Amino acid sequence: MIEQYLDKQWTKEEIYEVYKKPLLELIYEAATLHRHFNNPSEVQISTLLSIKTGGCSEDCGYCPQASRYHTDIQKNDLMTVNQVKASALRAKETGSSRLCMGAAWRNVKDDEDFDQVLEMVEAVNGVGLEVCCTLGMLTENQAKKLANAGLYAYNHNIDTSEEYYKEVISTRGYEDRLKTIDNVRKTGVTVCSGGIIGMGEKWEDRCDMLYTLSLLDPQPESVPINALVAVDGTPLEEQQPVSSWEMIRMVATARLVLPKSVVRLSAGRTSMNKETQAMCFMAGASSIFAGDKLLTTPNPDINEDLVLFEELGLTPKAPIKKEKEAHDVAEKSERTRWTRPGHTIERNVSASNKAKVARKA
Ligand code: SF4
Repeated sequence: MIEQYLDKQWTKEEIYEVYKKPLLELIYEAATLHRHFNNPSEVQISTLLSIKTGGCSEDCGYCPQASRYHTDIQKNDLMTVNQVKASALRAKETGSSRLCMGAAWRNVKDDEDFDQVLEMVEAVNGVGLEVCCTLGMLTENQAKKLANAGLYAYNHNIDTSEEYYKEVISTRGYEDRLKTIDNVRKTGVTVCSGGIIGMGEKWEDRCDMLYTLSLLDPQPESVPINALVAVDGTPLEEQQPVSSWEMIRMVATARLVLPKSVVRLSAGRTSMNKETQAMCFMAGASSIFAGDKLLTTPNPDINEDLVLFEELGLTPKAPIKKEKEAHDVAEKSERTRWTRPGHTIERNVSASNKAKVARKA
């Protein structure tokens, strides 16, 4: 059974067939393949830290940090290096082996803020955690600077299928996502890229997203699977939550299509009961994000997670030590023209208009 999934070049239709398998059979195959590559008792705990919150210029339909929507998030300027280091130490004490730092930026600029992020990367690496960043679009030169500072992974989600992406975001193109991933690949930094289900996409879009990830060479080391957390004021505020079965099915399909990637349970865990999470671990998820917030949306308490680990006989995975790299870098990056398609997405425009009215009131 395992051989059919190894080094496979997938077609979209083949992924559709996997996704549509009877659920218990799908879970069984995913669990079997998972055991071939991983220790099923080990689950990585990663902490996601919002180092700069809100005020983002983009129009991502799911995101409460977009400044054009009216949400009740608490905006914050860039954290200091000391604040980040303190968070890293706390994360380590509670079993995390990775700290992922997120900044609400369209793209990284060669400025003092980026220099400060490079210092943060060094500091977190010094604490002995794997360091991941998610900072928006990134040039090759910036990727090299992060690698030189000791970055372990860069997160840049493709979010959904190329086709459905146009229904969610109009301020940058799908090709920009792939270009950033390609820039990261020119260093030894690993790639973390996945997406969100429950944004109103068809099930085929979920499979098409996995197809795009399967074409990356090499495939991403990490694939986060998020369930949409519909936040009031965002264009997707009225989306119904995905069912447990859909989440388990998506995790299992990702496990089979991308056999060597770490499949990460990400946003949306607060609406999953323990049994659903256990089934996701069975189906091949081997990482969770910890912390009471995932950037801005709620997340289970770490103590609840540790109780769940105890009940399931899971142990937190240890960090992998990352050495700094030594790329030649220029002070300023090459000029990159990121796209701005600017097509109209009615629900984004409507949420933005509602926010203007709310701000005037
Ligand atoms: S997802 Fe990122 S890029 Fe999009 S609006 Fe939110 S912070 Fe900005």
